[in-house]
Amino acid sequence: MEQEERIRVLQVSSLIKTTPYGGVAKEEFLNGAMEIETLFTPEELLDYLHILEAAAGRERKEHWGDRTLDLDILLYEELVQWTERLTIPHMDMANRTFVLKPLAEIAPYAMHPVYRQTVGMLLDELEKREGIQGKR
Ligand code: AMP
Repeated sequence: MEQEERIRVLQVSSLIKTTPYGGVAKEEFLNGAMEIETLFTPEELLDYLHILEAAAGRERKEHWGDRTLDLDILLYEELVQWTERLTIPHMDMANRTFVLKPLAEIAPYAMHPVYRQTVGMLLDELEKREGIQGKR
């Protein structure tokens, strides 16, 4: 990220270990979030993320299988975009603790422009829902 002059890294979360679901991947995942400032449009940023993924030697044999690096755009200011290539905010981010936890560390007050709730609120609600389900 830092080698690219059109990107400035503002914040980096800690990495959270997650046991993968779906039953395909064997290794644990490390999940983190990063806040950047960029001159790239969302599409240009996605192209750049794919270059980084390729450089990290990503080999994708199975959907949800083990992988080296997976980079996603979660939020892009308060943009809402739903095209074939790119869904922003990232689809399902509000239902995934491993996404919301690192994101809440660096941007608890960032607004989800569809749900009109902050990342911190989304995480609280998800943890409550999961807590209730866990007790059933
Ligand atoms: P993944 O399985 O996470 O590697 O996603 C692969 C594809 O998802 C990418 O090539 C994108 O075209 C598409 N995609 C849709 N929305 C997003 C997003 N917000 N961030 C990254 N990829 C996305």
